[in-house]
Amino acid sequence: MTTTTTMKQSAPKQERTQHTPVPVTVAYGDGIGPEIMRATLKVLDAAGAKLDIEEIEIGEKVYLKGNSAGIDASAWDSLRKTKVFLKAPITTPQGGGFKSLNVTTRKVLGLYANVRPCVSYHPYIGTKHPVMDVVIVRENEEDLYAGIEHQQTDEVVQCLKLISKPGTEKIIRYAFEYAKAYNRKKVTCFTKDNIMKMTDGLFHKTFNEVGAEYPSIEKEHYIVDIGAARLADTPELFDVIVMPNLYGDILSDVAAQITGSVGLGGSANIGQGFAMFEAIHGSAPDIAGLNKANPSGLLLAAVQMLVHIGQHDVAAQIHNAWLRTIEDGIHTYDIYNALLSKAVVGTADFADAVIERLSQQPKRFKPADYSNSVANFNIKVTPAMPAIKELVGVDVFLHYKDRDPNALAQLISDLDISGLKLTMITNRGTKVWPDGFPETFCTDHWRCRFKNDMKSGVSYQAAIDLLQKIHNRKLNIIKTENLYLMDGQPMFTAGQGQ
Ligand code: NAD
Repeated sequence: MTTTTTMKQSAPKQERTQHTPVPVTVAYGDGIGPEIMRATLKVLDAAGAKLDIEEIEIGEKVYLKGNSAGIDASAWDSLRKTKVFLKAPITTPQGGGFKSLNVTTRKVLGLYANVRPCVSYHPYIGTKHPVMDVVIVRENEEDLYAGIEHQQTDEVVQCLKLISKPGTEKIIRYAFEYAKAYNRKKVTCFTKDNIMKMTDGLFHKTFNEVGAEYPSIEKEHYIVDIGAARLADTPELFDVIVMPNLYGDILSDVAAQITGSVGLGGSANIGQGFAMFEAIHGSAPDIAGLNKANPSGLLLAAVQMLVHIGQHDVAAQIHNAWLRTIEDGIHTYDIYNALLSKAVVGTADFADAVIERLSQQPKRFKPADYSNSVANFNIKVTPAMPAIKELVGVDVFLHYKDRDPNALAQLISDLDISGLKLTMITNRGTKVWPDGFPETFCTDHWRCRFKNDMKSGVSYQAAIDLLQKIHNRKLNIIKTENLYLMDGQPMFTAGQGQ
């Protein structure tokens, strides 16, 4: 059900812009969600945020009613109408069949950029990293989160990693535009393109191409493993970091946690015309209903939302009151430290402490000022030039129980269909025929590469004829991948050890 409430404007102390109410969809979520949402909305109300709120129900209750997506059609209607979503965390029930609502919302609404500022608040919140102010810009729509998984043999399952040129260009452009708008000096890119040369390679190459358009911003690239190690060890090295979805998901939690608590992190999910704001943490069922949860992550996400909807003055007022509350040592249990804190308070009292400070500025931290912040960048992507595509082969994946690659090769190495011949067999990517190592462990999942000499293309019918011949030999084909030359260049990787 959708209800509409207009928030009252309660007498703000300072002169400010008169805002007209902006429609916003709000979900209270599960676990600690309702507590932190109530606390957040109380602060927004007291600060005079002008919101026209539509409440929707999502999450556990909706899942358990039998809706495997966790969200009803009426809720989508509200989101389509308001285009702004303030969302508390939800619980995804355990077990198969339930799709992650977070992933669905991000992908269905095209929220391609996940922006997660991770700041340490030394000396008021205990952290090993007193100098840390990193913004993680995580790609939100593709990569392994496409959710395309299959069990193909008795022994092997697969998950497709999809990286697109426009998806990559959008997120990298967003990271540079964000750096420019917020006066950030450097954008770092993390990938694993030493291993995933085509998918992560595209991300890195696009980073270099787009980065060249921003000469005043410093650029660097790390292989994600050493990048992650440096981020965890010396976060002060970094400014803005842009990453594909999976690395960004993992490392933004690491970055938020090392600022002092995962409960401090807010995030914005930005698309073309849509945006969703949420805490980075989950529904914390272990502390739900105990009035213990730190509402800061959701409150700081709401600050990002206020900037997004043009209520910059209210955003700054709340952010500054929050900074002052932290400086005054009013802390929830997750950041309480006997040496640094003055009082440990519950969720509701923390919100009241922020409200009491709405007319105050931080004493030591730099006050937040959003007056010149640009929240919506006009991100355009360059359409890909159509390439000349020629079929030169096909990788045929087989379910074959005998673990001997030479025995398998004997069954298919005589085939020659319009020049398509067996050139290689791999097992889990490692070349095992010809000239494989007897030490290489083999599963029941084989990739057999049939290729011509690549001097000219072959017809698709030739590939179909090849499959028919393999099928006639009673071999179990589980999938195929076509091998193309694009503008004369091979668009497929070699086998490990080839
Ligand atoms: P979690 O983030 O909920 O909790 C991890 C730990 O951090 C817990 O000890 C918790 O008490 C603590 N914590 C989290 N937020 C806190 C806060 N605001 N104040 C104080 N302490 C806090 O992660 P989890 O336990 O792995 O997941 C719990 C549920 O949340 C799962 O159902 C998961 O699917 C869901 N989840 C939802 C979202 C979302 O809605 N965006 C994100 C992550 C996880």
